[in-house]
Amino acid sequence: MNKSETLFERAQLTIPGGVNSPVRAFKAVGGTPRFIAKADGPYMFDVDGKRYIDYVNSWGPMVLGHNNQAIREAVIKAAEFGLSYGAPTEAEIEMAELVSSIVPSMEMVRMVNSGTEATMSAIRLARGYTGKNKLLKFEGCYHGHADSLLVKAGSGALTFGVPSSPGVPDDVAKHTLTVEFNNLDSVAEAFEQHSDDIACIIVEPVAGNMNCIPPEDGFLQGLRKLCDQHGAVLIFDEVMTGFRVSLGGAQEKYNVVPDLTCLGKVIGGGMPVGAFGGKRDILTHVAPTGPIYQAGTLSGNPIAMAAGLCALKQLKAPGFYESIFENTQALADGFQKMADKNAISLTTNVAGSMFGIFFTSDKKVVNYQQAISVNQAQFNQFYHNMLNEGVYLAPASFEAGFVSKMHTKTVVEQTLAAADRAFAGITA
Ligand code: PLP
Repeated sequence: MNKSETLFERAQLTIPGGVNSPVRAFKAVGGTPRFIAKADGPYMFDVDGKRYIDYVNSWGPMVLGHNNQAIREAVIKAAEFGLSYGAPTEAEIEMAELVSSIVPSMEMVRMVNSGTEATMSAIRLARGYTGKNKLLKFEGCYHGHADSLLVKAGSGALTFGVPSSPGVPDDVAKHTLTVEFNNLDSVAEAFEQHSDDIACIIVEPVAGNMNCIPPEDGFLQGLRKLCDQHGAVLIFDEVMTGFRVSLGGAQEKYNVVPDLTCLGKVIGGGMPVGAFGGKRDILTHVAPTGPIYQAGTLSGNPIAMAAGLCALKQLKAPGFYESIFENTQALADGFQKMADKNAISLTTNVAGSMFGIFFTSDKKVVNYQQAISVNQAQFNQFYHNMLNEGVYLAPASFEAGFVSKMHTKTVVEQTLAAADRAFAGITA
């Protein structure tokens, strides 16, 4: 047994499934998860000493690459002053000001500790602010693991949601309506049926949890219009897309202004951080200025603020994103070319530094049904072939891939050479 196998056996005795977040267990692709010893630049190194080009990037945060020297130094410096105070600090103001300047729709910002907290809090705020109960979300979008968000579409085109996990009461799930991504008609129909009681729409403006699916032209604009017509709050869950598909997130890239925005991942520079924010006249309803309760012992933690501030300041450098976007497009184009060469049916999607590869003969993938209809057996073989080649992709076909500043042209070329061999090795 190698060290990862030994550790995985040991982990399963005291940690459910051996992992602290389910996708890490490799259930979808089979085999043993690699236990990681360290990471640097575009690479992760497992406990057996094998090096991987990493396209998971901690599920999105590491847009600067792993172990960024300036962030590391900022964290060490902040730690010298104490780890947590539970009292306000100047760094929190600096963070709110910086986020507001980068994402102008976020006139006010509240820091939290994860993306889940950000979306959960934004939804409570939208409900409290509008006095309405229902929320509308999209099939295949993931917004963290709060009860009202672990809900899938019921049978039929438009029904009340059903829980997607035991432990979520039907009474909670019934307030969540789930409709089709990139289908404005399904949203309009939901408003027709429940016009008086929809508090908010929450959407991943680029869906990154059913692989990578960008919005079709007019989709996000249409959501904005419907929310305005019906007095509902538009929430962009930019936990994944924030500071990634462009500096100002998907709202900047697609030029649509939401009422509330949720952030996570990149904003913490690798530390556990999230944030929600938006229009001043909505945010002032949050405690202590307003009656809608939200709090956190470690929210705005000084070490996390130091890491996040250092990350965001680096991203603001002029032209920062150009090479990342170029390399992401080159990677996706290269995957397509290598798949074609090896007679494998494949389609790719790209949004900024996010990409998706779909083992399908569909020319374009725009929704959840298409995303789940891919050739799973081929993906799994490709996945393990790439892992053997030293390329670490997300261990499930429903996850977006992420490119960092450290994934240079050369690293991309090495990845594509590996992909050529990995496609050639597919027998399914
Ligand atoms: N929203 C989106 C779009 C996400 O991708 C995620 C996590 O992957 C979350 C929310 C939840 O964030 P966290 O895992 O930090 O709770």
